[in-house]
Amino acid sequence: MQNLKTNLQIIKQNIERAALRSGRTASEITLVAVSKTVDIDMVNLAREMGINNFGENRVAELARKREAIPAVNWHMIGRLQTNKVKDIVGKACLIHSLDRWNLAEELDKRGGIIGEPVPVLLQINIAGEEQKAGIAPGEVEDFLEASSRLSWLRILGFMTIAPLFEEGEASRPIFRELFQLKKIFSDKNYKNVDLHYLSMGMSQDYEVAIEEGANIVRVGSAIFG
Ligand SMILES: *Cc1c(COP(=O)(O)O)cnc(C)c1O
Repeated sequence: MQNLKTNLQIIKQNIERAALRSGRTASEITLVAVSKTVDIDMVNLAREMGINNFGENRVAELARKREAIPAVNWHMIGRLQTNKVKDIVGKACLIHSLDRWNLAEELDKRGGIIGEPVPVLLQINIAGEEQKAGIAPGEVEDFLEASSRLSWLRILGFMTIAPLFEEGEASRPIFRELFQLKKIFSDKNYKNVDLHYLSMGMSQDYEVAIEEGANIVRVGSAIFG
């Protein structure tokens, strides 16, 4: 618990400094505490220390923790199977991992059933890693255009997962490219698309990500150990 407190203090300070280096303030950056490796008691402790955004990469786990702690925002950050869509829409405040067209259609359909817009981020595989999810940068335009014909899906930004490097600094070009991509598509007025969020940066490289324009960082191990 002492560690948790210290970790959060350090991370908050780092976020503040990185935000200033990018000409912003910490209030513009959302810290999503990735709680996938810890249980409800730790989430509650983090919450008492002022954290109100948590990220999970499994639908069942998110649903379980959300039931126990409903008064915070739960983010879905992991790969989403289409057969789990019905269990996540309406529960996650933001789905970071829209990575293929048929998932967009399923999310849209589910939004229609419950009568609520479905806020998502488009996951982009900047480095072109075979094993990683996400659409290629060259496919973004077609994807956004197609999304404008849906009814309930709302694409609110982009997300990426940088390759695992030894040094956080190595992620910089990846983050820079995602920022540029957002810039290119921000002022095109596609219906259902409002590119505001850039979800990039994890324990290793969240400061670099903020310097390159991230406004959501997803931090797990640096908080919870
Ligand atoms: C686990 C996970 C994180 C957090 O990773 P850490 O290195 O523990 O900070 C961030 N994003 C996604 C998609 C994850 O699965």
